Amino acid sequence: MSEETLFTRIVEGEIPSHTVYDDETTYAFLDVNPLAPGHTLVIPKTPYERLEDMPRETAADVFGVLGEIAAAVEDAVDASATTIAVNNGEAAGQEVPHVHWHVIPQFDDDTARPIHALFDGADLSDEEMADLATRIRDRR
Ligand code: AMP
Repeated sequence: MSEETLFTRIVEGEIPSHTVYDDETTYAFLDVNPLAPGHTLVIPKTPYERLEDMPRETAADVFGVLGEIAAAVEDAVDASATTIAVNNGEAAGQEVPHVHWHVIPQFDDDTARPIHALFDGADLSDEEMADLATRIRDRR
């Protein structure tokens, strides 16, 4: 876990932000380069780098308010849905090493696609699927 990140500086007020939520463990603010009006970032105040670095209690706190924040964002900009995503690690496009949820409003008439559009897809046999599930289960 890094001591300080761009986002801890935002939480501390050293870098200005448009705050939309603030409690003991969780903070949310508007993304400075919004992909849509109301694009919000939701973070734990402690700078865990990746999702799996977060203790369960902290993850529960953040998840506990994520849905409320998404609903508030949708309501505020009159959106009909939100895409909620984490770029979890550099290869996934994570630029700020402080885990954050992107909450991005979607409108009926916009051209945004589901996250499935990001990937080419993998053609796997049932045997390969079963093997993958076993390998994932065994690592927990
Ligand atoms: P990611 O690529 O998932 O790490 O996303 C980092 C996000 O942080 C990007 O969408 C940036 O636009 C956003 N960002 C960077 N600097 C700031 C800032 N000072 N205030 C608000 N959002 C920021």
